[in-house]
This record gives sequence, C-alpha cells and structure tokens, in this order.
Amino acid sequence: MLESGLLSRRKLLAASALTAAAGAMPRDSFAEAPAAKKQGPGVYRSKIGSYEVTALYDGIWYLPIDEKFVGNASSRAVDKALAAAFLPPRILPVSFTALMVNTGAKLILIDTGTAGQITDSAGFMLGNLAAAGVEPKQVDMIVISHFHPDHIDGIKTKDGAKVFPNAQILVPEPEWTFWMDDGNMSRAKQPVLRYFRNARRIFTDIAGEVRRFTPGEEVAPGITSIAAYGHTPGHTAFAIASGGQSMLAMSDTAREPFLFVKHPQWQPSYDMDGPMAAATRERMLDRAAADRMLVEAYHFPFPASGHIAKTKTGYELEPVLWQPL
Ligand SMILES: [Zn+2]
Repeated sequence: MLESGLLSRRKLLAASALTAAAGAMPRDSFAEAPAAKKQGPGVYRSKIGSYEVTALYDGIWYLPIDEKFVGNASSRAVDKALAAAFLPPRILPVSFTALMVNTGAKLILIDTGTAGQITDSAGFMLGNLAAAGVEPKQVDMIVISHFHPDHIDGIKTKDGAKVFPNAQILVPEPEWTFWMDDGNMSRAKQPVLRYFRNARRIFTDIAGEVRRFTPGEEVAPGITSIAAYGHTPGHTAFAIASGGQSMLAMSDTAREPFLFVKHPQWQPSYDMDGPMAAATRERMLDRAAADRMLVEAYHFPFPASGHIAKTKTGYELEPVLWQPL
C-alpha cells in the first residue's frame, strides 16, 4: 500500500514537471504579491430561529502535556490519538472561541476569551468582535460557564479595567461559591491556586455587580443554563433556543474533540473531578448524538460547532460547513 502510494506520488510529481517543461505557463504571467503574514477575521455567524449567533475566535494555545495528562490512559494512547488527528505528540493545541448571541433585543456574550493573558497565540477575540462590527460597550450581558482563566480573563484588561463597561455579568452560583471561598483557596495547590487568585483579580472589586444564577435557570430569553459539573465544581453549559431551533453550547464538557469526543471516558488532569466530568461528558454527547443536536464548544476547532455522531468506542464531531446566512 505504502509502496504504491509512493509510486503514484512520484508519477504525479513527474507529470507536473512535464507540464511545467512544456512551458504552458510563461513565468511572467504570475503577479508578484507580498505574503499577508496574518490570518483573516475569525468570525462565523449562524441563525438559530430569529437569533443570530456569532462565533468569535480568540486563538490557540500549544500546551505541552506530560505522560500523566490523562489519568486513565497511557501517554502512548494519547499520542496515538493526536497522531490520528495529524498532530505531533505531547503538545495539545487548545483552541478558544467565544460565542455572541444577538436576540434582537440584547447582545449576550458567553465567555470572554483569554485577553492575551495566557499565550501570545491567543487574545484576538476583541479584534474579531470589531471585525464583526460590534463595540465592547454594545454588549449587554456576559454569561460565564466557569472560572478557568481562559473563560473569564476577557472581562478585564491587564490593568484591571472593565472591557465591557455596560455588560451585566452572570456567573453560576456553585462556581462562585467554590472559587471565592478562602478555605478552598487555602487548601489549593498549583495550578489551581493560580485560578483562585485569578478569580479574585477578576471579580473581587465588581462583586456587587455580578449576578449569580443557579444552573437550570433561564439566564436570558431563550438561553437556559445546564448543570455540567465535573470539569470544575460549578461548570455550566447552555441551550440557546429560538423559533423551534436550538444550539447546545457545551462549554468545556468535551474540550478537544480529537481526544475527548473520541474518548469521552478519558480523564484529563484539567478536569477537577475526573469521574464526574467523564460521566457528564458521556451523558451530554449521548444526548447530542441521539437528538441530532447542533452543538458548540469553546475548545472545538473554529467555528467550534457541528454535530455529534456515535461510534463503536465513543463519538465523532462532524463540523459545520462554512456557509452564507
Ligand atoms: Zn476552557
């Protein structure tokens, strides 16, 4: 198989060399253009009933992982899954995409990106918001899924100023209770201790303005929060529904699809309660597959949405097709 593949590739190269030699394309028919050296805007819109939902790309983090990254799978199995996705071993590409919902009456942002505070290869959300034609002051509401830095850092600049001056901020009550508790912080080790400190940096001085909701509540018209505990103690997903259509925003329930949609039972170190997170993941993926739901997730490859198909051993993400509205 390999041999014939090589042969046919050689033939192909030979054929293209012949075409070039035939002089069908004179060299001066190619215009010289400088390389752009940057990506186009990461903005993707879709319609859910009368709502317009916009995926806003924030960037990617190439996270080195060690042999203990997945507690109940060998590093060989993890590297094999990365290789199956044409990715190098021991590096996890973590993609970030925030979601904006325009209900017609309100502009609602679900999670806020990294604000460039995690890696230089992320922090493009505000640029993409501008490319989408929206100014931060127009955002009416920010709904937070959980308190990991990549989801809340965009609330503030490095200097502590509010990025979205007119937005009401909604957070899951159990998430607030866990991360803002001094006793919990005193027992925490790194990297979780860093997350406790960061949650205080973001929320302490604006605590009076933050509204806490109980997962299960409708947080805005057509946006219902769903308890999805395990990744963090109060981790929350959201169902967005309008006019008989819906999208399930899974937040960090499934993370990188080439690892944890394919192998939902795997327990990565960043799930704070591994068994609970895996059970939540299985339950949500199973429902998404059975009900053929349109899903979205913060760490799926941009535009971070698609459908979930059941396989013999797990699930598969079938990405949406980029298409006009
Ligand atoms: Zn995350």
